[in-house]
Amino acid sequence: MVEDEIIAGNLALVRVRIAESAERARRDPHDVTLVAVTKTVPVEAVAAAYCAGVREFGENRVQEAERKVAHWRYLDIDRDDPARWHLIGHLQTNKARPAAGLFAMVQSVDSPRVAEALSRNVPAGHELPVLLEVNVSGEESKSGFALPGGRLDGATGPAFLADAIAIAGLPGLRVEGLMTVAPLTGNPETVRPHFRALRALRDRLRERVPQARWRHLSMGMTGDYPVAVEEGATIVRVGRAVFGERLA
Ligand SMILES: *Cc1c(COP(=O)(O)O)cnc(C)c1O
Repeated sequence: MVEDEIIAGNLALVRVRIAESAERARRDPHDVTLVAVTKTVPVEAVAAAYCAGVREFGENRVQEAERKVAHWRYLDIDRDDPARWHLIGHLQTNKARPAAGLFAMVQSVDSPRVAEALSRNVPAGHELPVLLEVNVSGEESKSGFALPGGRLDGATGPAFLADAIAIAGLPGLRVEGLMTVAPLTGNPETVRPHFRALRALRDRLRERVPQARWRHLSMGMTGDYPVAVEEGATIVRVGRAVFGERLA
């Protein structure tokens, strides 16, 4: 189908750009995982991306993800090499139970309440990898722990540090790093300082909260993923550059 070929072509271009950015930063492109963001995207397009090699998919709403994953499992394409679903949007605590069973990673833990709700609902014997979502830009509208400039010595620093320590100690969860959503802008260079701030915060957390692994930096979307890779992203979350503009 023509649409499948467009998605495969888009993916090839995104992968080339990731590799070029990694090279500029003297990084191994294999250290960058592409999460294809499928919110509002039909499951046929998910299948096209899967056939073009994508294994990680991102959804921002639990209900949409539940419906899509049920449909996806019915297609039964990925039995030998399952797709992995990431939650990248704010989680309401009353959806923690389905979320804990559905997602391979929750990237959008933005409060101790959300972390505790997930911790209580992780199936016995499992560990759910999570990232802490941090708002380093100071934009009021953004979710995530507010930590302007990623500074632990600012007004919100001590409370964030205490929360990070508490979350790192919750059973059933494995804190693996940080996620951020940069401000939307036409010029990716204006977001570079925010990505740098997230990486510097990650480096400080490695010293201050050594009980967590802090290996992941999830940053970069369609408008800015090459800059994010240059600044150390290990996960980029790309929707429109893979599937085209969202209609909804
Ligand atoms: C929608 C979304 C993305 C992907 O955005 P694109 O601009 O389509 O690449 C990434 N991260 C989050 C948290 C999102 O909600």
